Amino acid sequence: MSVLMPKPSEAILQRRAAIVGALKAIVPGEGVVDSTNEMRAFESDGLTAYRQLPLVVVLPDTVEQVAKVLKYCHANEIPVVPRGSGTSLSGGALPLQDGVLLVLSKFNRVLEIDFDNRCAVVQPGVTNLGITHAVAHRGFYYAPDPSSQIACSIGGNVAENSGGVHCLKYGLTANNVLGIEFVTIEGEIVRLGGKHLDAEGYDLLGLMTGSEGLLGVVTEVTVRILQKPETARAVLIGFPTSEQAGECVAAIIAKGIIPGGMEMMDRPAILAAEDFVHAGYPTDVEALLIVELDGPAAEVDHLLAEVEAIAKATGCVTAKVSESDEERAAFWAGRKAAFPAVGRISPDYYCMDGTIPRKELPKVLAGMKAMSEKYGLRVANVFHAGDGNLHPLILYDANKEGELHRAEEFGNDILKLCVAVGGVLTGEHGVGVEKRDLMPEMFDETDMKHQQRVKCAFDDKHLLNPGKVFPTLHRCAELGRMHVHKGQVAFPDLPRF
Ligand SMILES: Cc1cc2nc3c(=O)[nH]c(=O)nc-3n(C[C@H](O)[C@H](O)[C@H](O)COP(=O)(O)OP(=O)(O)OC[C@H]3O[C@@H](n4cnc5c(N)ncnc54)[C@H](O)[C@@H]3O)c2cc1C
Repeated sequence: MSVLMPKPSEAILQRRAAIVGALKAIVPGEGVVDSTNEMRAFESDGLTAYRQLPLVVVLPDTVEQVAKVLKYCHANEIPVVPRGSGTSLSGGALPLQDGVLLVLSKFNRVLEIDFDNRCAVVQPGVTNLGITHAVAHRGFYYAPDPSSQIACSIGGNVAENSGGVHCLKYGLTANNVLGIEFVTIEGEIVRLGGKHLDAEGYDLLGLMTGSEGLLGVVTEVTVRILQKPETARAVLIGFPTSEQAGECVAAIIAKGIIPGGMEMMDRPAILAAEDFVHAGYPTDVEALLIVELDGPAAEVDHLLAEVEAIAKATGCVTAKVSESDEERAAFWAGRKAAFPAVGRISPDYYCMDGTIPRKELPKVLAGMKAMSEKYGLRVANVFHAGDGNLHPLILYDANKEGELHRAEEFGNDILKLCVAVGGVLTGEHGVGVEKRDLMPEMFDETDMKHQQRVKCAFDDKHLLNPGKVFPTLHRCAELGRMHVHKGQVAFPDLPRF
C-alpha cells in the first residue's frame, strides 16, 4: 500500500538537500540517485502491494564508501534500508520516506574461486545463479536455488536465509555460507568465518544469516561450492488427491531417502505451469510430486525404484522418469516458473510462505480450502514438500474493491493456521513488513525483547531497516543493554593445574 504523504516542509527539504550533498561527497559520480522519477524504480520490492519512495538512493561501489555512508547516517540518525536486487516477497527492502536506500547492486564481482577449498568469494550483488555460472566450467555449482535465482543477489539470500527446491538435501543459505564481511551501522568493517569450517566464539555468522538487513550490511560472502552429482534424475508422480501426495512424501522420508529435491503442486498450479512452460506435467491429476534423486548412477536407479514403489503404494496414477538432462530441466522449469505462471491466470497474486510439520499437510490443505470459500478467492499451491514449506498463491484483483484486503486477511489466516499446527510464520521469505504484525502469534513479549536486545547490541539507535520484523520497537536503554567497554572488565586469575 502506498501512503499519501503531506507535502514536506521547508525545513525537511533543507535537511534532505544537506543529506544528499553529504552523500554525493562520499559516493561521487552517478552513485547517488535523488530525482523522484529515477527513484521510482526502487519504490517497492517483490511485495508490490507496498510502495514508498526513499529519501535518497545510494549505490556505493567500495566497502570504504559503504562504511562512510553508514557512519554518516549513524552520526546524523538517518535510517538505512539495505537492498540487493529487490525481489524480497516480504517487503524487506521496502524504502523508508526518511531513510537512505543503500543498494548493493554495483558489488557484482566474483572475487576468487578456490576449487581446492571448494569455495568462492563473491561480492553481495552477484546473483545466486551467477555463482553457479562462474564455477560450472569445472563441474561445480552453488546448491541453494531460489526460484528467483536468475535475479536475486547472494547478499539478499544471506539476509533472508533463502532456500530453494534443492535445499532439502543440501541445506539453506545458512548451511552453504562459510564467511562474510559486513559493515556495522557505526561504519566498522567486520569479518566472520572464512574458507574454513566453523569458527571460534559465538556463531555470529549464523546470527547474521537471516537477519533481514537489521544487523549490518553484507559486503562480501564466501560460499561453499559443490561438485555436480554424477547423475540426477527426476520423476513426476501424479495423484488423485493432495492427501495421497502428502502421504507419499512422508513415506519417502520415513524410508530414509533424502531426495535432492521434492516438490508438490496442486491442480491450479499444475495447469498454470503446464500452460506456460509445457513441462510435460499430467493435467488430469489433483496433485503432482517432482522427486529428484542424485548421486552415483547405480544408487540413483535403486532409489528411483524405491520411490516408484512407495508412490504406487500410496495411490499414484502416473509416474514419469526423466530420460535426459533436458527433460529433467523441463520438469523443474515448470515448478520454478509456477509464480509467474499463476500471474498469467490472475491479475494479481499474493505469495505466502509458511512452514508446517509435514504430517499436518492434509489438515492445512483442508483448512485452506475452507478459507478459500470463506474469502471467495482462489488459491494455487506449490510446496517445498520435503521441508514442509508451503507457498500458497492467493489469486485476487487489486482493481476490485476490497480484494487486496481479503487476500491479506486470507494470507494471515493461513499463517496463523501454520503456527497453530506447530509450524512457523516463514520458511524462507523472511518476516519483513509482511508478517511483522503476526510475530506475536509465535513469540511473546519476553521472546521479542530478547531478540531486540541482540538488535541493540549491533544497532542501538534502531537505524538499520527499522519498521521491519518487530511489531513494536523498544528503546535499547529500556531493554537494559549492557555496555561493556574494553578495560572495564577485570578477569579473575584462572586457576592453574
Ligand atoms: C518470482 C520469485 C520467486 C522467489 N522464489 C524464492 C524461493 O524459491 N526461495 C526463496 O528463499 N526466496 C524466493 N523469493 C524471494 C527473494 O528472491 C529472496 O528473498 C532473495 O533472497 C532476495 O534477494 P534480493 O537480492 O532480491 O534481496 P532484496 O529484496 O533486495 O532484500 C531482501 C532483504 O535483504 C536485505 N539485504 C539485501 N542485501 C543486503 C546486504 N548486502 N546486506 C544486508 N542486508 C541485505 C534487505 O534489507 C531486505 O531485508 C522469490 C521471489 C520472487 C519474486
